[in-house]
Amino acid sequence: MSFLPLNEPIIGDEEKQALIAAIDSGYVSTAGPAVTEFEDAVAVRLGVDHAVATSSGTAALHLALLGVGVGPGDLVAVSDLTFIASANAAHYCGADLLLVGPSASTWNMDTELLYEDVKARAASGKQMPAAIEVVHILGHPAYWEPLRQIVNDFGIPIVEDAAEALGARILVDGRWQECGTLGEAGCLSFNGNKLITTGGGGMLVTNNSSIADRARHLSTQARLPGAAYRHDATGYNYRMPALSAALGTAQLQRLDGFLQDKARIRTAYEDLFDDTQIALAPVAAWAEPSHWLISARLGGTEEERDEVVDFCNSKGVGIRPIWRPLHLQDPYCHSEQLGCRSSTEHYRDGVSLPSTPSLGLSDLNKVAKTLVQAQQHTNNGANL
Ligand SMILES: *Cc1c(COP(=O)(O)O)cnc(C)c1O
Repeated sequence: MSFLPLNEPIIGDEEKQALIAAIDSGYVSTAGPAVTEFEDAVAVRLGVDHAVATSSGTAALHLALLGVGVGPGDLVAVSDLTFIASANAAHYCGADLLLVGPSASTWNMDTELLYEDVKARAASGKQMPAAIEVVHILGHPAYWEPLRQIVNDFGIPIVEDAAEALGARILVDGRWQECGTLGEAGCLSFNGNKLITTGGGGMLVTNNSSIADRARHLSTQARLPGAAYRHDATGYNYRMPALSAALGTAQLQRLDGFLQDKARIRTAYEDLFDDTQIALAPVAAWAEPSHWLISARLGGTEEERDEVVDFCNSKGVGIRPIWRPLHLQDPYCHSEQLGCRSSTEHYRDGVSLPSTPSLGLSDLNKVAKTLVQAQQHTNNGANL
C-alpha cells in the first residue's frame, strides 16, 4: 500500500548538482561562498537588508530574541498553539512566557486580545513583555494591525517565527508584505518538512544591521577577527554549513512552484470537503498563506480525533493532530496564559492533511474519501 505522507521534501537533479558542485569546491563546512550566496538569495527574495544563515530555525529564533534584548527574568509573549521550538528559544534566553491563545479567524495568536492585555499591563504597572514572538502558524499570517499598534504605543519589539511561512504574505497598508519582514527580525526554518529544506537549517532576516551583526557574531562562538582565538562573549555554534546552503539555494529556485502546488492542493481540498463536516482552517482576506500544512477541524472529541488519525494512517493517509498547545506541555504549563482555552479547542479536533506539493488529484481524492470514511467509522458526525 502506498502511503501519502504529511509533507515530504522534493529534491531533484538541480539539488544533486548543487551538492556535487559544493563538495567539489572543497568548502563543506561554514567557510566558502555558498553560505553567503544562500543568504543573499533569501535577502533578495524577501526584500530585506540582512540575512544570517543558522544551523536551525530554533537557533535563528534564539539569536533574534537575544538580538532584541531578551534576557533573564524578561517576559516574552508567544503563540500558545505552536511547535514547542518557539517557546524553547525564549526559554534559552532565560525569559518567562506569556502564552497567547489563537483567534478563530487565523488560528494564530489573538493579537487584538494581546493588545488589550498589554494596555492593561501598562495601566496597572504589571510586568510588560520585553518582546513578542508571533508565529505564522501552518503558513497563515497573524493579524498584524494590533502588533503594529503595540510597537507604536509601547515600543515592544516583535520577532516573527516564520518557520512555516516562507513566501506567505500579509496585506498591510494596502501593500502585500512578506511574512518574516514586518517585525524587528524574522526567522525561517529549512528543516526537512518545511517549505524548502537544507536538510536542517534556518535563517534570521532583518533590516536592523546591529541585530544581524550580533547574530552573526554569536553564531560563530563570538570569536573576534584575527588569528588569536579571542572571544568576547559566550557564543554558540549556530552557523549553517556550506553543503546545507548549497542545497538551500537550489531549493529556493523552486519555492514559487511549491507555493503554487500548495495553493492548488488547498483549492482541491476546499472542493472535496464542501458539504462535509470537515472545516478547513480559514484564510483571511488580507492573507496569502504559504499553505505549508493544510489543516482542518473535524468537530468532535479528542478521542474521536485520535481514532480518525489512526484509521487514516492505517489506510495509508498521513494525517496528524495539530500540536499540543504549550500551556499543556510540562516545561511551560506554569507560564502566564491569555486566551489559551481557545488553543485547547483547536487542539481537540484539529488535524493537518497531506500537503506534499507533488500530490495529484487522485491522491487528494483518496485523502478526502478516507477521512470521510474515518468519521463515519468513529461516529464522529453523529456528535455534531
Ligand atoms: C519547525 C519550526 C521551528 C523550528 O525550526 P527548526 O529548524 O526545526 O529548529 C520553530 N517554530 C515553528 C513554528 C516551526 O514549525
